[in-house]
Amino acid sequence: MRRFTFCAGHRLVGHEGKCRNLHGHNYTLEVYLTGQEQDEIGRILDFKQLKLAVNGWIDANWDHTFILWERDDNGLAAIRSSEPHRIYELNNNPTAENMAVHFLEDICPQILEGTGATAYKIRLWESEETCAEVALESH
Ligand SMILES: [Zn+2]
Repeated sequence: MRRFTFCAGHRLVGHEGKCRNLHGHNYTLEVYLTGQEQDEIGRILDFKQLKLAVNGWIDANWDHTFILWERDDNGLAAIRSSEPHRIYELNNNPTAENMAVHFLEDICPQILEGTGATAYKIRLWESEETCAEVALESH
């Protein structure tokens, strides 16, 4: 497992409380890997390789970005009206749960392709007290 941190803004459409407003978090992402074979040194994947793969994606997509639901027209318009801006459109409300599922199922297979390692669990922390955990069904 390796831990990553990034800052992002979001809001939750339909939330009954203050999370419906635009706001941000210092997120912590935990990426858990497994693999069939260790290399001759005894590794599933070098930690540095994992760091480069995940950090590269986070820097390009989530860090200092507004992560918004693709159907949140009003929120998207608000952020687009500021220059410059960075938006990551999610196919669902950007809860910690939905972001973790997207990262595990859609992103990890791309960024780990060819390494021999696969991600089987993600924890995404929105704060020191709250996180969502998702895992592949086989684990
Ligand atoms: Zn939030």
